[in-house]
Amino acid sequence: MREDLHRIDGEAVAAVEGGWLDNVEPATGAVYGRVAAGTAADVERAVAGARAAFPAWAATPAAERAALLDAIADGIESRLEEFARAESVDTGKPLALARSVDIPRAVKNFRFFAGSAMHDASEAHATDREALNYTARRPLGVVGLISPWNLPLYLLTWKIAPALATGNCAVAKPSELTPATASLLGEVCAAAGLPPGVLQIVHGRGPEAGAALVAHPAVRGISFTGGTVTGAAIARSAAPRFAKLALELGGKNPNVIFADADLDEAVAVSLRAAFANQGQICLCGSRILVERSIEREFVERFVAGAEALVSGDPLEEGVDQGALVSAAHRDKVAAAVERARAEGGRVLCGGAAPAGLPARCRDGFFYRPTAIAGLGQDCRTNQEEIFGPVVTIGAFDDEDGAARAADATPYGLAATIWTRDLARAHRFADRIRAGVVWVNCWLLRDLRVPFGGMKQSGVGREGGREALRFFTEPKNICVRFPHAPLEP
Ligand code: NAD
Repeated sequence: MREDLHRIDGEAVAAVEGGWLDNVEPATGAVYGRVAAGTAADVERAVAGARAAFPAWAATPAAERAALLDAIADGIESRLEEFARAESVDTGKPLALARSVDIPRAVKNFRFFAGSAMHDASEAHATDREALNYTARRPLGVVGLISPWNLPLYLLTWKIAPALATGNCAVAKPSELTPATASLLGEVCAAAGLPPGVLQIVHGRGPEAGAALVAHPAVRGISFTGGTVTGAAIARSAAPRFAKLALELGGKNPNVIFADADLDEAVAVSLRAAFANQGQICLCGSRILVERSIEREFVERFVAGAEALVSGDPLEEGVDQGALVSAAHRDKVAAAVERARAEGGRVLCGGAAPAGLPARCRDGFFYRPTAIAGLGQDCRTNQEEIFGPVVTIGAFDDEDGAARAADATPYGLAATIWTRDLARAHRFADRIRAGVVWVNCWLLRDLRVPFGGMKQSGVGREGGREALRFFTEPKNICVRFPHAPLEP
């Protein structure tokens, strides 16, 4: 049985109150381990240790902090296969995906922010010949980092690396559904020589460990990635004590295909945008909008591509679709498809669990890639995030219609446009209210760019300099030149 313990002050420890949560393998439906059920008592202990570690860590030269982050990256890289397998077993995602995307990205996150620690600069403003203003950026202190289950190590390290690079001490709370790689990271950090208390990892349920972390008066900033409803609860708790907040929330992203697009590319990438990680990526293009003149051809090719995707044991090679993260989530996805049927949607493919799974996976949480046609943008299927392998396909007649449909949800995380017309690409990208717009691509990421959502997809941005700014507080220092007059 696997056991996931907290990592507090450099040590692997059980929950103060002694509780445990079951850890279920999504591909088999079986309990395969247990995870420490953190409560407010564990958060208290972790925050106290982080506060104690903060003065020395904040005073550590940037070059030493960067070297430690690089050593952590090396540590993950040297155990890549072990990390990838743990991520696949814990989430149900194909091992090949964890090996090629999730774990390498975690390594890159540490390397990227190790570089930033060495190369960041702050501003200076010379006020005529009177004074020099310079901006000192100082770490916030102890920060809380809360992440979801869909890209566990990828998203958690995207917060940990900039927080530590800028001299903060962090208390990280991974999703209780996917604790494994965070625990492995705790081991790697200890082996790399990260001082005790700089990174504390507390496992446990959101409403217990997570809520206690958000409410803790010594936690000066909270970076959260997860659902919009949870984000609202976190904002209600943290805002009255003026903790700094970055909220990366849900999406219902349009994928808009104009008739002049390269259809081969658009179909191939739209399939990935729809179903990668079983559709459990906040950036998935879950509302496909196609120009009417190519609708029939697109739909035929897309549905054929979806039907060809192989569902199976995520640990086997050649499997495209693994399991959804939990029975409850699989049931939620299945219920959303039933509701789409009740709303008048036509299920073009999928809409059920796969047949012919290997014996090991008979009780796993699988669902086939599903495409639904015949729904307007205002129905619940097109308004609410499903976060599974389910897309709708609708048609539009002109650019205005496409823009209205693209923008017709409360979310504004990402959008994709397919067109060969560069003028239209710029025009359309400018119109859409989304934090990321991809033109003729999807999920092409540069770690330097700002990342985050508009509307109910969140507030604040991660990525590059935005993350360095979030985890620091600017202080303006104004020094009068000795020769300048005292009075203006
Ligand atoms: P969730 O909101 O249920 O949980 C996310 C994290 O918050 C977990 O660690 C959970 O334990 C914790 N949590 C839950 N309740 C809490 C509370 N009251 N106080 C503090 N912490 C609490 O989300 P999920 O189901 O794990 O993840 C799926 C959601 O995440 C989807 O909506 C998806 O769109 C979103 N997401 C967004 C992004 C992005 O960058 N915008 C990226 C990935 C996932």
